[in-house]
Amino acid sequence: MTLLDRIDVKVGYLCNNSCLFCVQAHNKGKGRDKSTEKIISILEESRKKYEAVVLTGGEVSIRDDVFDIVAAARDLGYKKIHIQSNGRRFYYRDFCVKMIESGATEFGLALHGHIPELHDYLTRAPGSFLATLRGIRNLVELGQSVMTNTVITKSNYRHLPAIAQVLVSAGVFQYQFAFVHVAGNAKTYAPAVVPRKTLVAPYAKRGLDVGRARGVAVMTEAIPYCFMRGYEQHIAEKIIPETKIFDAEFVIESYTEVRRNQGKAKGPPCEECDMRKICEGPWREYPEMFGWDEFKPVKWHSVTGGADIAFREKKTAPPRKGA
Ligand code: SF4
Repeated sequence: MTLLDRIDVKVGYLCNNSCLFCVQAHNKGKGRDKSTEKIISILEESRKKYEAVVLTGGEVSIRDDVFDIVAAARDLGYKKIHIQSNGRRFYYRDFCVKMIESGATEFGLALHGHIPELHDYLTRAPGSFLATLRGIRNLVELGQSVMTNTVITKSNYRHLPAIAQVLVSAGVFQYQFAFVHVAGNAKTYAPAVVPRKTLVAPYAKRGLDVGRARGVAVMTEAIPYCFMRGYEQHIAEKIIPETKIFDAEFVIESYTEVRRNQGKAKGPPCEECDMRKICEGPWREYPEMFGWDEFKPVKWHSVTGGADIAFREKKTAPPRKGA
């Protein structure tokens, strides 16, 4: 257990967006939202081991008791209180101020388009783009650390560089592009929602370049090394903190383990790949849809810092000077 380990409490599943790619859609409206008491008892029990909490859902910000929950986490001594949100309620500046005063320390908001037509199409919530973007700006103006997530879909992947421009202009501290996970709504609408990773990769790289040029932390998730040559240092899986998840009807003790061993998959090309020990592979549903033809084994010499990684893995001789 390290200070970076954290709990992720899914407080409920109701949401004021209805995203085409929502992985929690099947949990919505089934009476699975946790009571205030239940959430606070999870926070109390977990505080013995953890110093960081992510509050998420569904949409945590639409709960009447959200400030009480955040304040309870603060009073219990959590050092990091991360609010994961679609960002719409942060449109209201007094809501932002109250959230900060209650004890929230980090904000993870979600922007999926560079213009209202695209973002609102994906969230199926008219007006959500303007509300979320205003929310991001409000928090930045209030001196908060804002990181964002953009789910990569068939509709928005060509616009990742433009989305990055919007995020950098808004002053985010970090942004991430996460390849859509084919579950929940994304599974229902898969043909319309899931793009090919081969087509996505060049746009993702150009999207990362926008932030790199401005000193913004940038990451991608669920796009393996074989698609991200030259951008290996931006692969998020390497640094996702170990997380215990309190989901609707179950608890996942180690999300890292479940993600690596059950969620993600490796295929025949991975057997020949020098990154196979480090790489998690794609979410398993992707090759179930498209097969493994796009995945091309990586050789150490083609990876940024590959010689050093190979040395650590005791695969080769020590790297030459300047290698
Ligand atoms: S292990 Fe598989 S998925 Fe990962 S980089 Fe290598 S070929 Fe790609």
